Formats: sequence, C-alpha cells, structure tokens
Amino acid sequence: MFCTIKIRRALAGILGAAAAIVVTAGISIGILAAIQVDASVEQAEAVQVPIIMYHGLLKEEKKQGRYVISPDLFEQDLKYLQENGYTTIVMADLLEYVYNGKDLPVNPVMITFDDGYYNNYLYAYPLLKQYNSRMVLSPIGRYIDEYTQNGDTNPNYAQCNWDAIREMMDSGLVEIQNHSYNLHSVDQGRKGAKKKVVESVAEYQSLLEEDLAKMQRRMEEETGYIPTTFTYPFGAVSKESLPVLKEMGFRATLVCESRVNQITRDPECLYGLGRYLRTNQGSSEVFFKKILPKKE
Ligand SMILES: [Zn+2]
Repeated sequence: MFCTIKIRRALAGILGAAAAIVVTAGISIGILAAIQVDASVEQAEAVQVPIIMYHGLLKEEKKQGRYVISPDLFEQDLKYLQENGYTTIVMADLLEYVYNGKDLPVNPVMITFDDGYYNNYLYAYPLLKQYNSRMVLSPIGRYIDEYTQNGDTNPNYAQCNWDAIREMMDSGLVEIQNHSYNLHSVDQGRKGAKKKVVESVAEYQSLLEEDLAKMQRRMEEETGYIPTTFTYPFGAVSKESLPVLKEMGFRATLVCESRVNQITRDPECLYGLGRYLRTNQGSSEVFFKKILPKKE
C-alpha cells in the first residue's frame, strides 16, 4: 500500500516535470526532472505524527475541564491507543528519525504533558508503566526548584520536585523538555516566551536566552540530561525566538496548533510541531477518531 502510493507520487512528479518542460524553455530537462522527483520522494517519506497535549489529572469531577481530566479518562486513552495498534514515541525518536536515519514504529503517536504537575507523577506515571507507554513532560524550572524546597506534594496544585522528575526519567518512560525556567506567566505585557511589543529584538533575545539557559543548566545539574526541545508556554510564539533556540542547540519546538505533523528527514520539520489539546470532553474513541491518521 505504502509502496504503491510512493510510486504513484513519483510518477506524478515525473509527469509534472514533463509538463513543466513543455512550457519552460532554456531549463535543463535533467535538472528539472530531478528536482520534481526529489520533492515527490521527500513527500512520500513523510510520516504522520499526531501529538496530544495534556496538563493535569485529578479525580474530582468538579475540578475537571479543559486543562484537567480524570486519571480514568487518561487510562482509557492509553488503552485505546494500545488496543488499536498505536505506539507512543518521544522527541528522541523523532530526532533519531530525522538526524540518524532510524525508522519510526508504525502508527506513532506522542503523548505530552505540560507544566509538570505533581499529579502527573501521581496518576499518569503509574499508568505509563502499566501500559508500557511513554510521554514527554515539559515542566517549568522555577516550580521544580520551589516544590523541591517546600516539600509540598498536594495533587491539586503542586508541581513535580526533582526526585519525581529523576524517578520518571530513570524509568525510560518519561522524557523531560524545556518549558522555560520562569517565562510561564502572562504579566507586564508578556505572554509566555513571546516578545513584548515595547522591547527591542536584542533585549528580547538576550532575556529569552538567559531564561532558557537557566532551565537547561538546572536540568543538567539535577539529571545529567539536556533537553532537546522547547515547549512554548501557551503556544505563544515570536519569530525572533527561533534563531536563539537554534543557536542554543534546540532541535525542535512544540506549539499548540491542532494538526497532525508531517515528519520528513528535513530537520526544519521539527520546529513548530502541532498538538491537540485533550479536554475532559468526549470518550477516547470519539477524541482519537477525529485526529488520528488512518493506520498503515
Ligand atoms: Zn504550560
């Protein structure tokens, strides 16, 4: 099935090239055909990767909504993915695919949790072990430090401490990414890591670099691992951030646009990965049927 599509696309490319040759005088036939076929091969190799975005898990129904769902519903999601032949991957798998030519499993899907709530450790992590699934967790550095110091582990509001982060990472089921050290707020004219209208590009870029570097440093000090991906707080993106992120070595970014990602071997495809917000509305079947691509 996959091969048929590939050949069909390649043929379409060649036919497209032939048509272009007729109307384009003076361009080498060989070069034009090669460009067309290359483009079609790259397209044919694109793997569709849907990414799901969760935040908190709490048992009390009255606390559930857009950003908090029940642990039971999360379990139903994991069960649905497993029973329907999907495999959960993390950012390291995408990097291996893009940079090192490794394959992805068939029907890949990525589970992400933002903000690093302690209830993720309490409820999501045991379920990951039970269903042998993986997730990408993007905590906020400042709060990991604060909750490590104050020892508070109230599931209603506390965020993960370094012990919880390390334990989850050591399991191999949880990958940690950078959600800023302290740029997860909407105040004084700034939304998340977005540029303020009143500041210069240079001012913005040095502030961003300083904050994200602090999170990278704290991660390395506490876990020995340096995140590869920046998860934009609130999905708020400024175009001036990208050169900073690339310069700092970030290989990918996660945003909040609802779409399935087309992953090719081109490193650029990893910047601005879309994600679907999982609210408490809808069964696993209803939610996933809307967004998952047809299985191979
Ligand atoms: Zn967030």
